[in-house]
Amino acid sequence: MESVSLLSAAGRRLEGKVALITGGASGIGECTARLFSKHGAKVVIANIQDDLGHSVCKELQANSTSAFVHCDVTKERDIENAVNMTVSKYGKLDIMFNNAGIIGVSKSNLLDIEKSEFEQVINVNLVGPFLGTKHAARVKIPARQGSIISTASVCSTIGGVASHAYTSSKHGVVGLMRNSAVELGKFGIRVNSVSPYVVATPMARNFFKLDDDGVHGVYSNLKGKFLEAEDVADAVLYLGSDESKYVSGHNLLVDGGFTIVNSGFC
Ligand code: NAD
Repeated sequence: MESVSLLSAAGRRLEGKVALITGGASGIGECTARLFSKHGAKVVIANIQDDLGHSVCKELQANSTSAFVHCDVTKERDIENAVNMTVSKYGKLDIMFNNAGIIGVSKSNLLDIEKSEFEQVINVNLVGPFLGTKHAARVKIPARQGSIISTASVCSTIGGVASHAYTSSKHGVVGLMRNSAVELGKFGIRVNSVSPYVVATPMARNFFKLDDDGVHGVYSNLKGKFLEAEDVADAVLYLGSDESKYVSGHNLLVDGGFTIVNSGFC
């Protein structure tokens, strides 16, 4: 695969680093955990799916040491515990990847959406990254280094693709990232986000009713293609590695030009 050939060309790009990945038991988070591990990072997977998390973690042991911690990102005590566990087990936290997220409510009309449905999505997708960023900063400020990355979405920059709740949550993730980058930059901590277009996880295939001709079959160089989780993991690897040492406050779109087309520039 492409990631493997890059690996042999560039060596292990995260050697000696310690990463904590929320939502690391499946999809983009799992793929990133595997890639990080291949590149020499010690990876802690934080998730609510304990069995899946443990089994991914076991497979990672082939490359580098790894651990699982039960963590519901909406609960501050869980996030605090995941960060503390990472530091006590591996001595530090270099890369915090706030990735856990849900699509949640699919209703598209404002009048149909219950407040509780809206809040559920905001809690996982935005409060989760807030808590992850806060507690990562707590241990990174004294260390005066590190990278914090959150998974946003193309829905962080445009409207009308997903629900009001999802779009609001992902716009919020980018706002949080920008503010945190300003505040934490003086401590040498970089803060960025990654914004994928639709990735061919089972969840997304089902939600967007994807067919084999690609997502709606039209956009830019995505025509006839789906994004794979590896495409996003490669971008996260860059943001986590020292190769991006001067990159902070950036929302890295991995969308094949989708948002340019849909911003009316083409
Ligand atoms: P996924 O469902 O495979 O991964 C999400 C993970 O988050 C799961 O392992 C789930 O157990 C975990 N999770 C859910 N709620 C949690 C909670 N409260 N605490 C801890 N873990 C929790 O889907 P994915 O596509 O890999 O999504 C990962 C991220 O990528 C999400 O933030 C999603 O919004 C974002 N994203 C996905 C797509 C896509 O098309 N799949 C596109 C853009 C952005």
